[in-house]
Amino acid sequence: MTTTAAPATTPFRFFDVHVVRTRRLGPSMVRITFGGERLGELASGGRDQRFKLFLPQAHQSEPVFADQGENWYPAWRAQDPAERPLMRSYTIREQRHEPAEVDVDFALHGADAPGGAAGGPASRWAAAAVPGDRVSILGPAVEDNGGVDFRPPPGTDWILLTGDETALPAVAGILAWLSPGTQAKVFLSVAHAADRQDLPTFADADITWLVADERPADGTDALLEAVRAAELPEGTPYAWIAGEAGNVKLLRRHLVRERAFDRRAVKFTGYWRRGASEEDLLAEYVAGTAAATDED
Ligand SMILES: Cc1cc2nc3c(=O)[nH]c(=O)nc-3n(C[C@H](O)[C@H](O)[C@H](O)COP(=O)(O)OP(=O)(O)OC[C@H]3O[C@@H](n4cnc5c(N)ncnc54)[C@H](O)[C@@H]3O)c2cc1C
Repeated sequence: MTTTAAPATTPFRFFDVHVVRTRRLGPSMVRITFGGERLGELASGGRDQRFKLFLPQAHQSEPVFADQGENWYPAWRAQDPAERPLMRSYTIREQRHEPAEVDVDFALHGADAPGGAAGGPASRWAAAAVPGDRVSILGPAVEDNGGVDFRPPPGTDWILLTGDETALPAVAGILAWLSPGTQAKVFLSVAHAADRQDLPTFADADITWLVADERPADGTDALLEAVRAAELPEGTPYAWIAGEAGNVKLLRRHLVRERAFDRRAVKFTGYWRRGASEEDLLAEYVAGTAAATDED
């Protein structure tokens, strides 16, 4: 179950793909299955494999790139923001071969509400997607790539996983990857009871679902409360935390300060931030003012 460190490079390349089918997983999530001529060359490392999704602007039928080569990033930044593809981060929920297909699960965060004003461009795109819609994926070309963060070090005795709907695809991928018998404590928050999913695993996983509409809306974070109250196993832990950036930070602080987790054994990632689009987060990152620092 333990892994080596992430490779220094992130060998990613572009794949032009189309929607093959869509399936509603529950009130808050939709699964989109992508296909594409060269998608068989994508090599997911499993677990929390991240990739970049590029969406066409509303007036375009496919993403319009200045360059899809090695210099894509400066070329993309130099493009007119009204013309360049919208870029978002997602997780490969599952990859299959013959036919080559990739599933991506999108949290809708209100994008399917009447009027369509809520959500963001990616969730609105997902809510309306139909077979044939074209997008691009910047995805891994080799399995051992820097887009996989879940890497418990040797000597890990048990695993803690926490996340909201946006992290559910990654948690599902991690659980599917864990070796038989690995002890895992898992806390997942979803909006509605019908958003819960079967999460097949060989691990010895104790999964707690926190359902928002069954709790008082008192502004407290259900995940933090649940982890605070939990009796955690003995031994050396490795924690993987993702979801809303503010909540992730508080959870990490709890684990490091109050539970004495080794900070190097807590992998934490803000998958989104309340009130900020991914463009806002990217702009902060580029300006060097990103809030997601390693301080506890
Ligand atoms: C490595 C990584 C992997 C990810 N994997 C997935 C995945 O597999 N599936 C998935 O659904 N998401 C995933 N996300 C999160 C996703 O990228 C964000 O939710 C993203 O903001 C969605 O883009 P958007 O265009 O819908 O909204 P944006 O335009 O980015 O944001 C618009 C508004 O919506 C708010 N918002 C964004 N997400 C949410 C949310 N979930 N709930 C409530 N409000 C929200 C923002 O705060 C902002 O105010 C991942 C993020 C990262 C960094």
